[in-house]
Amino acid sequence: MKCQVCGQEIEGKPYTYSYKGITYYFCSPMCMVEFKKRPEKYIK
Ligand SMILES: [Zn+2]
Repeated sequence: MKCQVCGQEIEGKPYTYSYKGITYYFCSPMCMVEFKKRPEKYIK
């Protein structure tokens, strides 16, 4: 799977965050924080 923010392939255990009933995956805590700040920017 790919990181929702930076698009990199995630190796190992992803960081996850649920937003409006959908779970998103991230490569790092930094990407997860970025998503939380502006989720609309990263949801297509
Ligand atoms: Zn990332």
